[in-house]
Amino acid sequence: MPTPQSFTRFYASAAHGGIRKGDITMNEDAEEIAICGLDGVLALVEHRLHHLHNESGERDWAAFHAACIDDMPNLPLIHRLNQAREAGTPVVLLSGRSAAVRVQTKQWLHDWQITHDALWLRPEHDRRPALAFKTEVIERHYAGRRIRRVYESAQHLDVARDYTARGIPCTLFGPNQGNGATREQFELKTVRHACEHVTLYPFYGDDDYTWADRIQQLTAGACLLCQAEEAEAERARQAATARLAAQARGLPPLEGSEKQVAWAEGVRLSAFGGIDKLTVWVARVDAEAEREDPDHWRTIKQGIARATAYLEAQTEARWWIDHRHGISNSLDGGRALVNAVAEQEGYF
Ligand SMILES: [Zn+2]
Repeated sequence: MPTPQSFTRFYASAAHGGIRKGDITMNEDAEEIAICGLDGVLALVEHRLHHLHNESGERDWAAFHAACIDDMPNLPLIHRLNQAREAGTPVVLLSGRSAAVRVQTKQWLHDWQITHDALWLRPEHDRRPALAFKTEVIERHYAGRRIRRVYESAQHLDVARDYTARGIPCTLFGPNQGNGATREQFELKTVRHACEHVTLYPFYGDDDYTWADRIQQLTAGACLLCQAEEAEAERARQAATARLAAQARGLPPLEGSEKQVAWAEGVRLSAFGGIDKLTVWVARVDAEAEREDPDHWRTIKQGIARATAYLEAQTEARWWIDHRHGISNSLDGGRALVNAVAEQEGYF
């Protein structure tokens, strides 16, 4: 444990933005380190989430970060980290939190006696995803170290999945459960999910008779990582099915990122579903329409054919995503789409 003197030295250090190592020297001999996040991990943030999720729909990151000084600490985790340090494993705090609140963060760590060996906050100008920032810090500064364990928030599933993929043990902190208004009453519950993975959940409030139900619910389901993986697998299955359906309809492959293509393929299939219904309708009324007004009917049929060819030629996934509104797999949807294209291209 650091002495009060080293504390003073640590917290008296100048604070400024940018990537900067904490002032307590790393034990260079130690090969193992533990890495711990701040928001949603060491610091319980539910009281300031309204700055990001509210009726206005605007995300006020500055206000969200500024309110960090009032976070409740995750005391059971602090206890674990202190134990790790006492056993000789340096603790590295690595957070996507903005370095703009470095002073407040240091004050908070000091107030709650959270000892650590390094503190990394995301530089103010760094707008990359947390995963990119964290990976860079680890690769540049801890390349030779074995990471004993990472404590990460379920808010950053991509980060947690990246650690897991690299074989680094990762303890995940799930979203808060219960009533945050009574946040002084807090307990950290360990939940072993149906997939056998363990997630830690902060539980709040005094309505503890509902806690058992909630824990049972969480236990019965898969952990958030497995849920994300399952959702991704399901998206891949749907994308493969959509690709086959598009091939069967003779549509050319779409171009764009994997995500864009998966999204656009659904939109395009829906559009051509509508056009197919329009084609069926045309065949049904063909003879009668031909009798009534042959010239007009031929213009319409020609317009439909040209609009269909125009749509078949749209192979940019982006195009389908940009035009997705109003597209539907129905006769009316097919009519509206063909009309829009025909008007835009001057076919009618
Ligand atoms: Zn799992």
